[in-house]
Amino acid sequence: MSKREPRAPLAEIPPDERRGRSQSGLPPLMGDIGFIGLGHMGTAMAANLASAGRSVIAYVRRADQLAQLEALGLRPTTDIGDLLDCEVVISMLPDDDAVREVVFGRGDDDLEGLAAGLMPGAIHLSMSTISTAAASLLAGEHARHGQGYVAAPVFGNPDAAKARQLFILAAGAPADVVRCQPIFDSLGQRTFVVGADPQEANLVKLLGNMMSATALEMLGEAIAVVRKRGLDPQPFIDIMTSTMFGGRAHKIYGDKIVRQAYAPGFVLPLVLKDVRLALAEAEKAGAPMPSVGVVRDRLITAIARGYGELDWTALGLIAAEEAGIFPVSPVAAG
Ligand code: NAD
Repeated sequence: MSKREPRAPLAEIPPDERRGRSQSGLPPLMGDIGFIGLGHMGTAMAANLASAGRSVIAYVRRADQLAQLEALGLRPTTDIGDLLDCEVVISMLPDDDAVREVVFGRGDDDLEGLAAGLMPGAIHLSMSTISTAAASLLAGEHARHGQGYVAAPVFGNPDAAKARQLFILAAGAPADVVRCQPIFDSLGQRTFVVGADPQEANLVKLLGNMMSATALEMLGEAIAVVRKRGLDPQPFIDIMTSTMFGGRAHKIYGDKIVRQAYAPGFVLPLVLKDVRLALAEAEKAGAPMPSVGVVRDRLITAIARGYGELDWTALGLIAAEEAGIFPVSPVAAG
C-alpha cells in the first residue's frame, strides 16, 4: 500500500480516557478491532470477537483467504492501511520477525508499519509468542509514536481458542491493559496481569511452554516404554492423570499421544521457535534448562524426518520411533 497522509491524534478523546478510563469508568476500546495473523489461532480468536458482536478488520496477505474469513463474520482486507484507524490492533503472528515486520513496515514494497500508521493513543495488542527482546523493542517503538503496547500471549491450542478457553497473560501499562479487558473477555476464560513491562508476559509464556514441551516429551517416553512392554497405554494414562498428573497438559496431551493424534494444533517448527527463545532467555539469565535441550534435539529430529506439519504431540511419535516401535501412523485425527 502507499503511505498515507499523517492523521491528527485522537484529540477528541479526553486524556483520561486515552489512558484507559472513560468518564463512566469503563474501558473505551469498543470500536473496530484490527487483526493481523489469521492462522490456526488467530482465525478462531478473530471469529470469536466477531461473534461477540465486534467489528473485526482482518488483514491477510493472500486474497484467496478473503472469502473464508468473510464467512466467519470478519471484514477481511489485503491492505494493512485499512486497519490504521482502529483504536486497537491485535497481532497473532508466528514469530519475532513477522511482528517486527508489521510494526516497522517493509521499506522495499512500501508496506506501512503499525507504529508509523496507527493514531497516537491506539494500542497494539501483541498476542504472539515472541522473545522478551522483541517485546521491549516493539513497546519502545510504539511509545515513540504515542501508542500503547500490551503483550498478551496465551496458553491454549486452537481448540481452546475456538471454545474461548484461552488463558491470557497480559503485561503493559495498567491503563492500557484495562482498556483491553473486554477483548480478553471475548477470547479467553481468564486473564492474568503479569506486570507493567510487556516483556514479562512473554517470559512467563515461554517458560510455561517449556513446562508443557518437557511434559509432552516425558509422556511420549513413558508411553513408548508401556507399549514396548506390551501393555495398553490408555489405562496407564488414566491412572497417571487420575493420580499424580491431573493437570491440563498431561490430560490433554497424554490422551492424544495414546491415540497417536498428531494433527495440528501447534506445529513443530513453532514449538522449536519457542524452545530456541526459551533457551536464549535461560542463557541470558545464567540459569540452564538441560531438559529443554533434549526436547530441542527431538524437535530437530522430528522436522528432519518430515513431520514439520504435525502437532507437538508428535514428540510422542519420535519417542515411539526411537524405541523401535514401527509402524506408527504419522497422522491421525486431532
Ligand atoms: P500459524 O502459522 O497458524 O498462523 C500465523 C498466521 O500469520 C498465518 O496465517 C500467516 O500467513 C500469518 N502471517 C505470517 N507473517 C505475516 C505477516 N508478515 N503479515 C501478515 N500475516 C502474516 O500460527 P499459530 O499456530 O496460529 O500461532 C500464532 C502465534 O501464537 C505463534 O506465536 C504461536 O507460537 C502462538 N501460539 C500458538 C498456539 C497453538 O497451539 N497453535 C498456542 C498458543 C500460542
